[in-house]
Amino acid sequence: MNLEDCLADFQISRYLHYMDSAATSLVPEPVITAMNEYDRQYRANVGRGMHRLTRFATQKYQDAHELVSSFIGGKEGTTVFTRNTTEAINMVAAGLDWHPGDRIVTTVVEHHSNLLPWLRLRQRGVEVIVIQPGEAGVFDIEAFEEAITADTKLVAVSHTSNVLGTVQPVRKIADICKAQGAYFLVDGAQSVPHFPMDVQSLGCDFLCFSGHKMLGPTGTGVLWMRNAVISPLILGGGTVDDVTTEEYTLTGGYQRFEGGTPNISGAIGLGQAVKYLENLGMDVIFKHEQKLTERLLKGLADIENVTIHGPQDTKNRIGVVSFTIGRIHPHEIAYLLDERAAILVRSGDHCCIPLMKHLGLENGTVRASLYLYNTSKEVDLLIETIEEIARMV
Ligand code: PMP
Repeated sequence: MNLEDCLADFQISRYLHYMDSAATSLVPEPVITAMNEYDRQYRANVGRGMHRLTRFATQKYQDAHELVSSFIGGKEGTTVFTRNTTEAINMVAAGLDWHPGDRIVTTVVEHHSNLLPWLRLRQRGVEVIVIQPGEAGVFDIEAFEEAITADTKLVAVSHTSNVLGTVQPVRKIADICKAQGAYFLVDGAQSVPHFPMDVQSLGCDFLCFSGHKMLGPTGTGVLWMRNAVISPLILGGGTVDDVTTEEYTLTGGYQRFEGGTPNISGAIGLGQAVKYLENLGMDVIFKHEQKLTERLLKGLADIENVTIHGPQDTKNRIGVVSFTIGRIHPHEIAYLLDERAAILVRSGDHCCIPLMKHLGLENGTVRASLYLYNTSKEVDLLIETIEEIARMV
């Protein structure tokens, strides 16, 4: 399968120019089919009982975990299905054993989901250090070297920014964490969907990402852990090996962290999404997005009154492109792009209010985020329509 052939699998892209994949991606037909098949043909609970449907559904559910863990090179660790990235990060924040004086290092570019769970730990005497970026949202590694001390328990950084598109130096940060004995959590919400991922070479302890941003259904996310060092957030059905009225013995594997009946069709859909991405090839997808991003950045750079927020070239960035046009409110621009050209983009603070404050952008930005189903023609239409709007300033 190649990228042009797969366009037919995304029905919405036939009549709309969807450029809001950083919020949630479109879903291809095979993923929808896989989910429907579960409900129509073999609906049953998983990990419970012996009848034929439960055995079949359990196998499919386990296969989905296998597919996802091998997709990120994480077979050696524990791959837990969650509702989304936010839940995965909160599970780590709630599940580690915190003590007053422990230190967490994070950054000002983080999505609220990778900031609020850490800030809340201040109530328990945990120190939270928030590093500021340099030019265009790029961090100097020295800032991490300075901040990550021997009493740092955890460093939490997004691999790629959902506002600026920047790719952070995660491998180097992992080395510093290792030297200082700190856990390293990577928020991969915007990286796992877009380029090849290998947790072994990345060197993180936790990787959190969202299935719904990588062609999977909503309500799916992943927490990968090198070692299952956290205590589970939810206890109940499916999480134990033995129980008396006095005590219980927790089970191993992902089951320990997935209490209660999970989102079974969602998990099966996510497994199918991963197969779909692998069939296309993550390196092919990344190259395609780089080509589109280069075209978009060049086009925007030539328009008077347009400011790009983030790197101006494709080095160390993904196809998440934030911009403003003069003093026009970003919501108005997003509305006009939809009205005039059926182009769908996000506008506002992108759940990154501290970053907006840091950048002095009180109304936020307009954000076009590209994925495998976007085309050069669509990017050209975006540039032309932005040009028209910019003339109104
Ligand atoms: N982190 C980043 C970098 C994100 O872009 C997002 C989604 N915009 C999240 C976390 C949260 O993802 P979810 O809403 O799926 O939990």
